[in-house]
Amino acid sequence: MPNIAYVNGEFLPLEKATVSIEDRGFQFGDGVYEVIRVYGRTPFRLNAHLSRLSQSAQAISIPVPFEPKEWEALIREGLQQSAYSECKVYIQMTRGVAPRDHLFPEASHPTIVMTFREMADLPLHMVEQGVAAVTLPDLRWARCSIKSLNLLPNLLAKQEANQAGAFEAILIKDGFLTEGTSSNVVLVKNGALLTPALSNQLLAGVTRQAILELAKSKGIVVEERPVREKELTQADELFLIGTTIEVLPVTRLNGHPVGLGVPGPITKRMREYFRALVHTK
Ligand code: PLP
Repeated sequence: MPNIAYVNGEFLPLEKATVSIEDRGFQFGDGVYEVIRVYGRTPFRLNAHLSRLSQSAQAISIPVPFEPKEWEALIREGLQQSAYSECKVYIQMTRGVAPRDHLFPEASHPTIVMTFREMADLPLHMVEQGVAAVTLPDLRWARCSIKSLNLLPNLLAKQEANQAGAFEAILIKDGFLTEGTSSNVVLVKNGALLTPALSNQLLAGVTRQAILELAKSKGIVVEERPVREKELTQADELFLIGTTIEVLPVTRLNGHPVGLGVPGPITKRMREYFRALVHTK
């Protein structure tokens, strides 16, 4: 089965899908998006993703053309057409096509694009050995809770991390941890999970919410508070969380081992709890 795309009402093979060069997503990054993981044909926490999509769109005044039930029907249709059991659904909503002008067009007709691509599990060595990360300054804007298409600072930081031999850049603003370029970050200290509280400086991750709920239900203490850069280097364990990486141990930070330099026991437990959660849904 081919990878499938949906563009403004039509499903078609991904390579046949196009949008206008005057789309404001292309011209300005004027839009929002979501990435949803599908496990065994079931989207993980679809409602949470759809409500975040709606909040992101509302925050930048893009009218949302569908109710959750309508989104769900479209996603089900795409999943059926692609016939993938394990896949990721990408949804992008832009302010639509208009002659290039910074001002919003008077009538907004959002462009809706979705793609359905097969998705494999992460390579085992990443999970078993953990990955390297580097800290970099967070150069993004002040509304990072909006899942906007404008990802340039994230891309630059991810590229810089890659060139330093690391998988992810962990971003620091004014001496405090915000998040990764495409992940939330959790520290383990003395058996407790520690992660920055939600604010306009970071994305309210769907995985983050699931992990914090799981930890609490298993009796693991969770602290959501400002995290100083220095606390990262003193952490017993460190892990990244996100839709496509699930729970990924960080075992080297800025070239130094994190804790014992191997995935720690709490990180492993959180990964197991998460895998059990997504495979029982
Ligand atoms: N933070 C950023 C900047 C992201 O781009 C992402 C996901 O792509 C996340 C956090 C994790 O969010 P979620 O768990 O909803 O995928």
